[in-house]
Amino acid sequence: MRLRHIPGAEEKIAKSPYVIQDPSSEKGHWKERFGNDFPIEAEIGMGKGKFIMELARMHPDRNYVGIERYPSVLLRGLEKREQIECSNIWFLCMDAKLLPEVFEKGELTTLYLNFSDPWPKDRHAKRRLTSPEFMKIYRQVLADGGTVEFKTDNQELFRYSLESIPAAGWEILSYTFDLHHSPLALGNVMTEYEAKFAGEGKAICKLVCR
Ligand code: SAM
Repeated sequence: MRLRHIPGAEEKIAKSPYVIQDPSSEKGHWKERFGNDFPIEAEIGMGKGKFIMELARMHPDRNYVGIERYPSVLLRGLEKREQIECSNIWFLCMDAKLLPEVFEKGELTTLYLNFSDPWPKDRHAKRRLTSPEFMKIYRQVLADGGTVEFKTDNQELFRYSLESIPAAGWEILSYTFDLHHSPLALGNVMTEYEAKFAGEGKAICKLVCR
């Protein structure tokens, strides 16, 4: 995502009633935070948050956490959040590397990675959100049987992920190189990036792993 620093973004996020300011204090207490026993799903790198907010509105019987590391990007999501009514979503401004400091093993049932930065250089491979390093982190917070759902337009990153994910001990349950013309399209919720790329005629890849 092209990042333009927005002056005052940090301060606005620090005052937002939709953002949890001290996420590590929630570890092990997420059910209390949401006030129910519903499953909790999270999107890593939510950008402006269209996807996760749409899910939250569609599924009042699930809880959602939108995670974005850049305040200037999250701020755009918060502006959108102000316009909707829902009580089953919280936002965190943090790096996904810190997930195990914020969630106990089993507190999340599903993680969504949508149009994650590709980090094409080999020396940056560890930064890819589907690298073995990150897959190990997800295992520390997901429930047994929990899933990761990954969408991208980047075929190289997708091919890499089809190898890196099983190599990290995960099972790929389904995948497609052309989501919008596949059975996986049923119930698909588009992200901001997905709408843009699909509009340009690009094929969207998706995989689900456990
Ligand atoms: N998911 C949105 C979509 O599909 O429209 C945004 C995609 S954008 C290309 C990727 C986002 O992931 C950026 O906003 C970036 O800041 C965020 N991101 C990348 N690595 C991250 C990390 N390690 N932790 C949290 N957010 C991250």
